[in-house]
Amino acid sequence: MATPSSALAQFGGTPVRSAPWPKWPVADSHCQRNLLNVLHSELWAISGCSQKQDLFEKQFGSDFADFCGMRYGVPCANGTAALTIAMEALGIGPGDQVIVPGVTWVACPSSVYQLGAVPVLVDIDDKTLCLDLMKVEEAINSKTKAIMAVHLYCSFVDLKKLKKLSKKTGVPVIEDCSQAHGAKWGKQRIGSFGEISTFSLQQSKLLTCGEGGVCLTNNRELYYRMQEFRADGRRYGGTVKPWNDYQIKNSGLESGRNLCMSEFHAAIACAALPRLDQQNQWRRDRAHHLETMLQEVDGVEMVDCPEDVSERTFYRLCFRINRTTFQDASVAAISEAMSHELKLLVDRIDPPLNQHPLYDPRKSPRLKSNKERQQRYNPQLFTLPASEKAYDNCITMPHQMLLGDERDMQEIVMAFRKIQAEIGQHL
Ligand SMILES: *Cc1c(COP(=O)(O)O)cnc(C)c1O
Repeated sequence: MATPSSALAQFGGTPVRSAPWPKWPVADSHCQRNLLNVLHSELWAISGCSQKQDLFEKQFGSDFADFCGMRYGVPCANGTAALTIAMEALGIGPGDQVIVPGVTWVACPSSVYQLGAVPVLVDIDDKTLCLDLMKVEEAINSKTKAIMAVHLYCSFVDLKKLKKLSKKTGVPVIEDCSQAHGAKWGKQRIGSFGEISTFSLQQSKLLTCGEGGVCLTNNRELYYRMQEFRADGRRYGGTVKPWNDYQIKNSGLESGRNLCMSEFHAAIACAALPRLDQQNQWRRDRAHHLETMLQEVDGVEMVDCPEDVSERTFYRLCFRINRTTFQDASVAAISEAMSHELKLLVDRIDPPLNQHPLYDPRKSPRLKSNKERQQRYNPQLFTLPASEKAYDNCITMPHQMLLGDERDMQEIVMAFRKIQAEIGQHL
């Protein structure tokens, strides 16, 4: 392949790509039909008073649990709510500690301190960018009440080792699969390994309804408790009355709050699920093709994925960059140049949580007046060298690119080459 040598698009040159990328999220006729169904029904919320039709919300919980090979699913408002009700169901509160990876979306640690528990930041594995399980083991003590295991970008926590560690220490796992809907580890779906698994259905995710979340479990007690924590102490059931009645009933065993998913969102989620496997397969084929072509490009490689992953998913494609092949440009500069060439947001990975501008529990109203407690929540107490190294050497691209065809993948390769050749002039 020839190296294009025109000026970088960022500085007035012709971009490698001019055509638009495939659309995300996808709206199809199934989605439209479901939405209209809700619109013309008398059931817009699971707390609505109508027995005239079944809840899309309950349907989605059950469909998604089936899809992942789990017994129970509880939909909720978003991925943050899913983490919150998962931890509440496990009884986590003030005085407890929860292990969270040093790199992940801020909702992971934020949901922990919002419950009064302390997020303990543990560094990531150099290769997979997910939790380093040796460091997890070192961080476990008598206050540790859960390991929040997050599958990130396009890689995975080593679930075999994690299961062993959880068994040995008795610390339950919350598997946050917000970036890995539909992936498989061996024959088993991701999201079937923890006591509880959680998913976000926010619009950028592989399975989306705009804003949404869902928790899965095999444990009936946890299932009941999660229902109640997300719906002010109510759960599905009760006898059907001859008049229109609620489909969730007061139980009051737990004192929860409203973190429910609306019927409109659930209607979209129900329509999106049957497409997921096929979309994942398409993305996987494109990623494989791209990875093969990138073998010809020095200094750009996809992050490693544990061997046991049999069906990898790509939420954000994540590449490790050898910056010397980009004339020592920073990953910030490379991402910016890539975004201009490809006309889609190419970005660094999330900043490590000990330096993340959106994560500082000390600013929270619940800690503001307590200097002593503030200190325990100081993110800078944690040293995260592998997270920092990854932050300085990795870039990510949205999965939307992988819904394109093989020619689109060539343009990604061309953009890398062009930037390698040209970026030195702008440093
Ligand atoms: C997106 C995401 C969340 C949060 O989900 P929201 O629906 O935005 O609340 C949590 N964890 C991870 C790993 C995510 O990627």
